[in-house]
Amino acid sequence: MTHPAAQSIFDLTAADIQPTRDFAQWCDAHDPLAAFRSEFAIPTDAQGKPLAYLVGNSLGVMPHAARTRINEELDDWAKLGAEGHLYGCRPWVSYHELFRAGLAELTGAHAHEVVAMNTLTANLHFLLLSFYQPTATRRRIIIERGAFPSDRFAVHSLVRMVGGDVHRDVIELAPRSGEECLRNEDIEATIDHTGDALALVILGGVQYYSGQVLDMPRITRAAHRAGAKCGWDLAHAIGNVPLALHSWGADFACWCSYKYLNGGPGAVAGAFVHERHHADPPPRLEGWWGTNPATRFEMGPDFDAGPGADAWQVSNPPIFSLAPLLASFDIFHRAGLDRLQAKSRAMNGFIEIALRKCGHDAIRVLTPSATHERGCQLSLIVAGGTPVARAVYDRLLPQGIACDFRYPSVIRVAPVPLYNTFDDCWRLIAALTAQ
Ligand SMILES: *Cc1c(COP(=O)(O)O)cnc(C)c1O
Repeated sequence: MTHPAAQSIFDLTAADIQPTRDFAQWCDAHDPLAAFRSEFAIPTDAQGKPLAYLVGNSLGVMPHAARTRINEELDDWAKLGAEGHLYGCRPWVSYHELFRAGLAELTGAHAHEVVAMNTLTANLHFLLLSFYQPTATRRRIIIERGAFPSDRFAVHSLVRMVGGDVHRDVIELAPRSGEECLRNEDIEATIDHTGDALALVILGGVQYYSGQVLDMPRITRAAHRAGAKCGWDLAHAIGNVPLALHSWGADFACWCSYKYLNGGPGAVAGAFVHERHHADPPPRLEGWWGTNPATRFEMGPDFDAGPGADAWQVSNPPIFSLAPLLASFDIFHRAGLDRLQAKSRAMNGFIEIALRKCGHDAIRVLTPSATHERGCQLSLIVAGGTPVARAVYDRLLPQGIACDFRYPSVIRVAPVPLYNTFDDCWRLIAALTAQ
């Protein structure tokens, strides 16, 4: 191997990248974040060998400390029963408050703008109900034709519930013909064009199929210029790319915690409500956990709203489904999203450039090539149609490479900088180019 000019993986250039296992091992040896991998349980094959686990965009792996955090709560429950609400090692009445700082850090929000609650689609419904306030003339919602099905179902069912007409009121954005990704200028043009008829824009910050990162500040500004609200589904964005929800001025956002946040299957999700909506909030569905904690247990008849985003909570949260996130947020805080992003770019650069240097053109990256338009995920489109693509995909898991397939012919891979190695990336490259 020729020795790369770079000092660490953070300053690799395309010229440094070599399509070899030696090079991958050089990268792992020059990765300042490499030690974080030992804090996670990496899923294994039948022989107990670690998988090249590239599906952290679907379900992140378990931080070892998650087990300790859950056991602490089980112990409090066993020892204290109901007293655990007030006297547990982390009292359950205020347990959700432990997640504010981590969520604020990951979303670029103020602490009172974020809350850990419910699950993603539930939060989408709660927030859409608050922020979609159609009038006779302003009632259109912009979504994406290729939106994740749950998001589309949420929007369509809400429009029907408030007496709207899905065909008239829902505008669907689609890529230009022959293209796979949306163009920010086209989204902006649709918003401008809809103008006074536009009530709400709700999009995924990172598109789940293509991995494209949209220009969230630009789209938010355009929605506001039209007099509409703007919300973001950050399922594939949180823990993946740096976010600045407060300064971008997003009205609301929600996300799940089991993808890049490693919160475990069905983990408690989260929501953001910009502080400009706190003093005079839109209507919302209410429950006792949204009330002021100082008066909540007086059990009075009136809704005395809790502070900020907390007022959108309805129930006391499932503690065991929150506990793993404490472990994960601690790791994120120590690793730092900027360094993680830099490593992610190096890993994706390795995969993309190595595939190219191997002269492999049957597999093309459909994720936009500009670094600010991609996160951890690369969506690989396999030439030759579904049966060919499916056959390529079906050979990966037997070689210990975990990723996923999306019809018609896309293989999604997400090297996650917290726990994946360059060697994982190499295993993928070798398996794809051997075919
Ligand atoms: C993963 C994902 C979901 C999943 O919804 P749940 O309510 O967590 O089951 C919804 N929307 C998007 C965009 C997703 O990526």
